[in-house]
Amino acid sequence: MSGQNHSSRSPWYARLHVQILLAMAAGALLGLLFGDTAAWLLGWMGTIFIRLLRMIIVPLIFTSIVTGVASVGSARNLGRLGAKTLGYYLLTSLLAILTGLVLVNVIQPGAGADIGGARQAEMPELRTPNSLAEIFLRLIPTNPVAALAGGDVLGIIFFGILLGVFLTQLPEAHRSRIGGLFQSGFELMMLLTGGIIRLAPLGVLGLMTRAVAETGFETFRVLGIYMATLAGGLTLHLFVTLPLLLLLAGIRPWVHFRNVSEAMAMAFSTASSSATLPVTMRAVEKRVGASNKVTSFVLPMGATINMDGTALYECVGVIFIAQVLDFGLSFQAQVVVVLTALLASIGAAGIPSAGLVMIFIVTEAINLRGPEVAVIIGTMLAVDRPLDMYRTMINVFSDTCGAAIIARTEGEKGVDVS
Ligand code: ASP
Repeated sequence: MSGQNHSSRSPWYARLHVQILLAMAAGALLGLLFGDTAAWLLGWMGTIFIRLLRMIIVPLIFTSIVTGVASVGSARNLGRLGAKTLGYYLLTSLLAILTGLVLVNVIQPGAGADIGGARQAEMPELRTPNSLAEIFLRLIPTNPVAALAGGDVLGIIFFGILLGVFLTQLPEAHRSRIGGLFQSGFELMMLLTGGIIRLAPLGVLGLMTRAVAETGFETFRVLGIYMATLAGGLTLHLFVTLPLLLLLAGIRPWVHFRNVSEAMAMAFSTASSSATLPVTMRAVEKRVGASNKVTSFVLPMGATINMDGTALYECVGVIFIAQVLDFGLSFQAQVVVVLTALLASIGAAGIPSAGLVMIFIVTEAINLRGPEVAVIIGTMLAVDRPLDMYRTMINVFSDTCGAAIIARTEGEKGVDVS
């Protein structure tokens, strides 16, 4: 595609990832200098861009899953792929949580912090967090058409997997007809995604300007050490843990970073794994070079349930609250924090600030309740945007690593070679 230019011969300023990075920097600067005026002038581009991305999500995941699963073939292969995927999700989320746990205990960002004077921000709309059993039940849509119409991603994944499995058992005449239809639909959605991504520099400019303009700087001072602890943990996970896993699978991390840089930039500026999903899928198929079989399995589900950054955040956030309130946490309580942080990250939706709302699951689990807790969480909300952007980037990066690693273990040769 002419506008989607990654060739090394094109001038540097014509390359999409360079344009996205420049747009991020320009947006941050404009938001900082001109505040609300800049947000008003440019923010609409971000809104349109997010709407375009969301427009493509349902048809993209649906066609991708059906074709991907149909290409896996036997139920045995499917089971193996599913087990690897879930194993990867659990392993990386737990590693992220443990990194956060160690840092928050060593740095103690909440000890002696005075949150009393901090302003209490308005909480986002509170939906009761789901229990694990509920999440599993929700997988089965009672009406697949409603799941598609309502954008119920887990329901669509479930229905898509079943369609893919049974598609392979149809007699040849039907199989090639309907299979071909899904395949062509998927190719069309990928092409459309590519077209939308060409608008990314403009969309990112709008999103960054608004994000920077809307975040005040006062509360940052109070919560500076908390933010630094979180950012440190996320950075370790991004630059040490996940690259080590890539290396173990025989993938050069820097090649992978370069291949998924657009998806990472998009995750950072949208703070939404779900909105980023089309970009992630395109990057992993077209640039990382993983098969549709693996990407369609790992990425859509990953965008909903594999959130390493969010998992780390839940753990650090809750222990920070406990430290501020001088609420001692026994070893057992810390184990409960680890497990519920994992559940909270699985249950969090891939939308901005979802992780913050899920933090109540973890505080409840260790009996940390009361108005003070709400005040502290309100204060954390005031500085949540940049942390949300960063953790979303790690959520998405982990999904892409999972796809590359699983593709390698499935014997795919061309993954992250250039
Ligand atoms: N915004 C994150 C995401 O979409 C979820 C969170 O708030 O942690 O991945």
